[in-house]
Amino acid sequence: MRIERLVVASKNPDKIAEITKVLGESGLNIVLVDDLDWPDVEESGATLEENALKKAREVFEATGMPSLADDTGLFVDALGGLPGVNTARFAGPNATYDENVVRLLEQLQGIQDRSASFRTVIALVGDAYELVAEGVLKGQIADAPRGNGGFGYDPVFELVNGRTLAELDLGEKNDVSHRAMALRRLFAELD
Ligand code: IMP
Repeated sequence: MRIERLVVASKNPDKIAEITKVLGESGLNIVLVDDLDWPDVEESGATLEENALKKAREVFEATGMPSLADDTGLFVDALGGLPGVNTARFAGPNATYDENVVRLLEQLQGIQDRSASFRTVIALVGDAYELVAEGVLKGQIADAPRGNGGFGYDPVFELVNGRTLAELDLGEKNDVSHRAMALRRLFAELD
């Protein structure tokens, strides 16, 4: 399938930067349209896939432009998969990145099993098509934040090599991340 232009259905500049870089390296000749606006989309779905599709569909309807949406969750094994689909709102409806990290570290205090995974579902919705792809990154939650890069929970998400995602630059994060993996899988279906 061939697409010439698309809009990223997100108002999060951190996500947009990562997505833009992966798209730029994909070899696809797609222009990102960044001067459109749309009403906020409520993330009311029960799964990442439902939320990604909801965002992409609503932004496609509002803008008329093929829309690519990302929904991401952090799934912590010792917390039974929480915060999961509520990752953005773990410490409350308008929680900041720092407040969410503090809440997570509090919940894991004294717990040995720190294993966790990031999951991203990317949805691309346009005229008469809907594509979905997923990426997963396994790691563990650090005892304390480290690093100044990335965003969200990156300072406490440790890779198997011991570095946190926030200790990587954008290119290094995209080499391994859940989001970049989902994007590459989805872009593989375009030409
Ligand atoms: P949502 O996909 O907009 O629902 O965002 C979920 C929340 O997960 C964000 O507010 C961030 O706190 C966090 N998040 C999403 N992607 C990442 C990531 O790549 N690294 C760290 N945290 C992330």
